[in-house]
Amino acid sequence: MAAQRVAEVVKGTKQTSRVRVAVRLRPYMHKQDEKGEGACVRRLDTETLEIINWRNATETLQYQFDVFHSEETTQQEVFLSSVKPILPHILKGQNASVFAYGPTGAGKTHTMLGSQEQPGVIPRAVRGVFNLVKAKEREDEGWDYSIGMSYLEIYNEKVLDLLSPSAQDLPIREDKDRNILIPGLTHTPLSSFSDFHFHFIPASLNRTTASTKLNQRSSRSHAILLIKVVRTQRNPPHRQQTGKLYLVDLAGSEDNRRTGNKGIRLKESGAINLSLFTLSKVVDSLNVAGGGRVPYRDSKLTRLLQDSLGGSAHSVMITNIAPEYTYYFETFTALNFAAKSKQIVNKPFVRETVTMPSVQVKRSREEQEAGRSGEP
Ligand code: ADP
Ligand code: MG
Repeated sequence: MAAQRVAEVVKGTKQTSRVRVAVRLRPYMHKQDEKGEGACVRRLDTETLEIINWRNATETLQYQFDVFHSEETTQQEVFLSSVKPILPHILKGQNASVFAYGPTGAGKTHTMLGSQEQPGVIPRAVRGVFNLVKAKEREDEGWDYSIGMSYLEIYNEKVLDLLSPSAQDLPIREDKDRNILIPGLTHTPLSSFSDFHFHFIPASLNRTTASTKLNQRSSRSHAILLIKVVRTQRNPPHRQQTGKLYLVDLAGSEDNRRTGNKGIRLKESGAINLSLFTLSKVVDSLNVAGGGRVPYRDSKLTRLLQDSLGGSAHSVMITNIAPEYTYYFETFTALNFAAKSKQIVNKPFVRETVTMPSVQVKRSREEQEAGRSGEP
């Protein structure tokens, strides 16, 4: 009943969201739940979840998104619903971006990279691009395709090459056609998926090694994989089109001041979340009608992604959340960022009772800001 109501409310106010927002809840993990309190979030349907209201235990909060992936959702299902549909656009010279957002420990790397047994979005998308290109070449429409990759990290507002590691902060430029480029960034041509694997795995390890030395850097930097597909017309005028796919494992969205990352110098903790904070402002301005100026230039991440986020680009944000109470405030912040709508329902979270009439709460800008600063 309540879920149906949410759907109706949203239908009435629906606007074209230019960044699709999916939420993925990872399975409950006992070792993450110090007090053994169980889960504080649960699925209602494929678009909706409910979370206990910490202010009032007789209420739950229900949030709706473009898609909600519950804890049973497989890597394959996430890929099919959120990523596969955007891949064909890359072969037509359009740009796309996929982000994993959320607090450290909520499943961003699992979603993007996954494991040998449960490969995530990155290996599936790269394989998918190779398969699409092969199919196009078989159809032989008179275009030749080439695929290449770059892999970089934004750490502390510095752009660092992960394929040729050095401490050099690379510049971000815009050409006359408004394409964003990074002069000096390694771009490696790829002839097969195993070729990708060969270059990508050692580069990811570079990042992991660095993380142990630099106080869990991997949770404080954005890892950005770029797959570029260039297609060239075989006959004159030999037109050329470039499509870019960015696959991004974002820094943890937790508030570093509150989680007591004491080792971080003040300047750093500011910079860590500047890109994330700006990203959330960019996504908001793109998704809210009349959102005003899109503040791409306010951070390195959004500047880099300017031609692949919003406009004619295809973008998906997968917000990862964890069900344990330990994550409650981080989850709340992430949901306020990701939700299309939210409503308060008078119903205790644990006991199943008859749903009382509900109040729809409009998600105001102030509330979003408040949510982001960690104060629900
Ligand atoms: P993050 O990158 O956001 O810090 P991780 O991807 O490292 O989080 O996930 C934290 C832990 O939870 C890892 O051990 C990971 O394997 C596990 N995990 C995350 N999401 C899932 C999932 N959907 N299914 C099973 N295990 C998961
Ligand atoms: Mg991670």
